[in-house]
Amino acid sequence: MTSHLSRRTVLSTTAATAATLALGTAAASQAHAVPTLPNGTSKDKVLVIGMDGLRHDRIDAANAPHLKAMMSEGTYGTSLLYASPMAATSSGPGWSTISTGVWPDKHGVKDNTFAGKKYDQYPGFLARLAQVRPALSTYAAVDWKPLDAQGTVTPGADAKLVLDGDRDGYTGHDATIAGEAEAIISGQNPDVLFVYFGQSDIVGHNQGAGSQAYLDQIAVQDTYVGRLRAAIKARPSYATERWTVIVATDHGHLDVGGHGGSAIEERRTFILATGPGIAAGARPIDTRLVDVVPTVFKQLGVPVDPAWGLDGKPVQERSTDPFDALTLSTRTDETGIPSTVRGFTHTPPSGWSVINNAMGTGGIAEWRGWAFVTDEFWSRTQRDQWRELNVRARGVFAVADSDEWADKNFSGTYDSILVTPAYDVTGSSKARLDFTTLYRQEGSQQAQILVSFNGGNPTLVRSYTSDVVSQPQSVTVDVPVGASSVNFRFRYTGSNNWYWVIDGVRISRS
Ligand SMILES: [Zn+2]
Repeated sequence: MTSHLSRRTVLSTTAATAATLALGTAAASQAHAVPTLPNGTSKDKVLVIGMDGLRHDRIDAANAPHLKAMMSEGTYGTSLLYASPMAATSSGPGWSTISTGVWPDKHGVKDNTFAGKKYDQYPGFLARLAQVRPALSTYAAVDWKPLDAQGTVTPGADAKLVLDGDRDGYTGHDATIAGEAEAIISGQNPDVLFVYFGQSDIVGHNQGAGSQAYLDQIAVQDTYVGRLRAAIKARPSYATERWTVIVATDHGHLDVGGHGGSAIEERRTFILATGPGIAAGARPIDTRLVDVVPTVFKQLGVPVDPAWGLDGKPVQERSTDPFDALTLSTRTDETGIPSTVRGFTHTPPSGWSVINNAMGTGGIAEWRGWAFVTDEFWSRTQRDQWRELNVRARGVFAVADSDEWADKNFSGTYDSILVTPAYDVTGSSKARLDFTTLYRQEGSQQAQILVSFNGGNPTLVRSYTSDVVSQPQSVTVDVPVGASSVNFRFRYTGSNNWYWVIDGVRISRS
């Protein structure tokens, strides 16, 4: 949540104020009567639970039966965040991404100053619901105050509980939030709730995500999950309701504690969701943090307007990208990547091909010609060279990386062509190629898209000559009279320059 400096400042005062903390918490809970929400209007209901700085790979080792029950009942998608210069792995960008359903290059929050925020254009989901479904009964409870003061989460809520964990400590306030949310679920008829717990981040900073104390804190917050789930199931009207519960986090933590940077452990995040239509036991590789909002909307039956510009998709919708079904290997030459991490392959999906006739010899084996890789495998090759900015790729993507290839003796130049399957365009006048890309330009490097009809000579339809930082792309070409098939080629050439990423390739016709 807060920057390391101010967070540690807060922590240093915690012991000294321990006595007054308990009093303050008691006073706060006495002073704050449970608000009365408007009566709910929906049988489809959603509870979003945010846990700050929760390293998902530590849940297994924790006494967390309720989170683990959700994993077996629901869909659990882990992924990595951006890093600088797109945004820090800190709470401002993380909760903004969760609440708005867009990446930091849209919502504008790059760090905990919130400078540049664009919530007017990309509002939080409660604010959006207040616009399009004002009859829904909504509630938000947070104890990291900026989520209210900066307008990240609470605007649009019919009732809210805002506590100041930085001032008073999070332990008591987290408990107050759990208790009030439990009371509202038990005694009222809310439709949508956002509930936040912050102490996981405090313990992460203080004792590290590798500590027993961190596991103990996961166990504490797991009991809150259990109470809220039990309150839902105990509702007299539960049998006629359709509840979705989502747990997500804003960033990871180093084993020794701390976040904000580009280490894999700081970038770790997840979405865990249970509810109608959400597959049990699923572990998709194509989930990303922007998927919380589309999942909420889908479960509520709220259609997403393309004009909202959301970056996510509901967690229950699986990718049809053939790259995501490839079998991946562990490292060969890349000794900086842990030997357990899968991974990469040079074998394209059925119908695809890679032409390396003009490719130089030697170099780092993983990057000799187009490779199909995961975010973790590729971005572990070298930090802070923008590989972390590949936010609009999902699961496995294709990469041509002349920079990494050149890290071992080689001859010649990097020259590799990725060829799509042939697509039937019989009787069509236009063919369209859609994909997402991350392209980093340098020197005489070239990135070209070529089109071929009926297996004929490829012709150039687009060249990239400047950076494209994780953006959707489309190319539309005229189909010659009489042509029956089209394919596209991605040709990358370079000599120890940067890289080109391609993902989510779709070909259509009109
Ligand atoms: Zn923090």
